[in-house]
Amino acid sequence: MINVRELKKQFGSQVVLKNIELSVSEGEIVVLVGPSGSGKSTLLRCLNGLESPDGGSITVGSINWGAASSKKEKKQALVEVRSHTGMVFQHFNLFPHMTVLENVIEAPRTVKGMSRDEAVRLAEELLKKVGLLDKKDEHPSRLSGGQQQRVAIARALAMQPDLMLFDEPTSALDPELVGEVLKVMKSLAEEGMTMIVVTHEMKFAREVADRVIFMSDGVIVEESDPESFFTSPKTERAQRFLRQLA
Ligand code: ADP
Ligand code: MG
Repeated sequence: MINVRELKKQFGSQVVLKNIELSVSEGEIVVLVGPSGSGKSTLLRCLNGLESPDGGSITVGSINWGAASSKKEKKQALVEVRSHTGMVFQHFNLFPHMTVLENVIEAPRTVKGMSRDEAVRLAEELLKKVGLLDKKDEHPSRLSGGQQQRVAIARALAMQPDLMLFDEPTSALDPELVGEVLKVMKSLAEEGMTMIVVTHEMKFAREVADRVIFMSDGVIVEESDPESFFTSPKTERAQRFLRQLA
């Protein structure tokens, strides 16, 4: 489903991703961990076309682009990849002037040209799934952070993506609100969604991930099944990282 080859990304003279190689199968749950500044967000942003690669190539489903693609090819690929990929950020970025329901129907209406009736039906189904159907006519500011993040997940799902990218979705939440968001993510994982999740929630990683990838300084240092990663990390860098979390 995802194939990343020799991906390189730099900002000015700072190389942020160094020859990243990554494959993710359909239905796989990959948890991406690593110290702050190691390039996790940049990698996710490359995968959904928010950043453009400086080297290497990316394949998502049947869409392929890379540093060598022409401007036009890149643009085409990015439009396509964004319509197949949902992304959830640390800060929920809901539209503050719209109700919950309007937030969720916006992209299917404007990007996919879905009829209002159909978009509303889909949105109500998704809001039910994240447990917020009763809040559909509220504005985001009236919701807790956990509820807002669940709306953001419903909004991403409304584009009916094949792939969901989560960038520290619970990092901005009060501790007591983390669980409700992880629960929604867990049920999505159980339904077979392909997911890449950047998170510091190690219990979630342990329970839900098929594979843990540890990044440091723009490099994938280690990847393994969660049990091996957490009980016997192979590298000194990963050991140090896990000790600091504990
Ligand atoms: P992580 O998500 O692992 O904390 P990031 O991918 O956000 O790491 O950042 C990796 C490095 O790239 C950091 O040193 C960061 O300062 C730098 N960086 C990220 N985005 C930009 C940008 N738009 N312009 C310049 N530097 C950036
Ligand atoms: Mg980040």
